[in-house]
Amino acid sequence: MLLLFFVILIENRYMEAYDTIVSLIPLLTISQKQRLIEELKKEKIVIHKNELTHCPHCDSVNLIKHSFFNERQRFKCKDCERTFTKTTGTALHGINKQNDFLRYFTSMMEDGFRPLKKMCKEFKISKQTAFDWRQKSMITLEHSKANFEGITEIDDLWFRYNLKGRQGLVNGRKRAGKVGAGDNGFQTKILATADRTGQLDMSVIRIGRMKMSDIPRKIGNRINSKTILTSDKHGSISAFAKSFKIPHISFDAKNHTFDKEYHVQHINSIAERFDFMVNRVLKGVSTKYLQGYANWFKELEVLKNDKSKNELSMDDLLKSNHTWDVFINIENQYEKFINTYSSRTYRCPVKRVRKSQNWTKDVLNRYATY
Ligand SMILES: [Zn+2]
Repeated sequence: MLLLFFVILIENRYMEAYDTIVSLIPLLTISQKQRLIEELKKEKIVIHKNELTHCPHCDSVNLIKHSFFNERQRFKCKDCERTFTKTTGTALHGINKQNDFLRYFTSMMEDGFRPLKKMCKEFKISKQTAFDWRQKSMITLEHSKANFEGITEIDDLWFRYNLKGRQGLVNGRKRAGKVGAGDNGFQTKILATADRTGQLDMSVIRIGRMKMSDIPRKIGNRINSKTILTSDKHGSISAFAKSFKIPHISFDAKNHTFDKEYHVQHINSIAERFDFMVNRVLKGVSTKYLQGYANWFKELEVLKNDKSKNELSMDDLLKSNHTWDVFINIENQYEKFINTYSSRTYRCPVKRVRKSQNWTKDVLNRYATY
């Protein structure tokens, strides 16, 4: 109740400012009005509509208003006794240039994959900042967990194991050196699943040959007996369909299609475009970040088909208050992935020193990337 009162109080303060500004507009000259419009366009729409409902540290709902700091309302959790603001733990955690970040995020969603250098130039930020903003944006994207309906294409996409950006590697090993063709222990696999209603999943599953267990681990709870899987003859997919009693239409890989209805053309098209973006536009990405890029690409595909989506706002960046936790633990997650889902050796740890936030095992499990 108290919280609600203060939220109303804050909103009132903004309403007063808004009323004042609106009342002054008639006093402006035409050219000033035009300049004002340009200013507003630059601003995009910055509204914090999301109510703060959970403690970002322990997920408790037992919150009280604490104090104002730098004109930002702080809250306190009655359970873990820690304080925080609306941006704590979100993609905006610790970021001063919030409007710049929103414009950067909007550009990522509207212009798609672009080389980092171009982004640095356009936004006048360092390479490190551009890279961090990109990672945080990719982490904060929300993903549909709706079921796959009807004919559902499934296939694995291959990306060479890539160590781009890792320090201390002998030259030539960055792209895993010379690797034979074919399905070997140097191919990172993304399981791609798409139905004809627009549901899409792209999950990095392992480095090496896809196993049957990889499929239920990623999409098991989104598939039911009404789903009709269609794929090429991959032993793991057949085994999965059989053991979960899911109808499955398969065909020889070289034929590409069973008939006009049962094929994997949609996934093939996605694979082709994603491969182009990753390997041509970005000149390859580190396996460590591949899942992030898959998330980004997937979101672009969803936005393409969703005409109802309005302009992006700060709310889109405040959706998850675990983004910061996931962001500073990408390296830990990657180490876990290499040790659990590949026969590669985890090498040359990347350690960045920062004021850390407590990272509990519980959060690691709940927000695990793999
Ligand atoms: Zn708490």
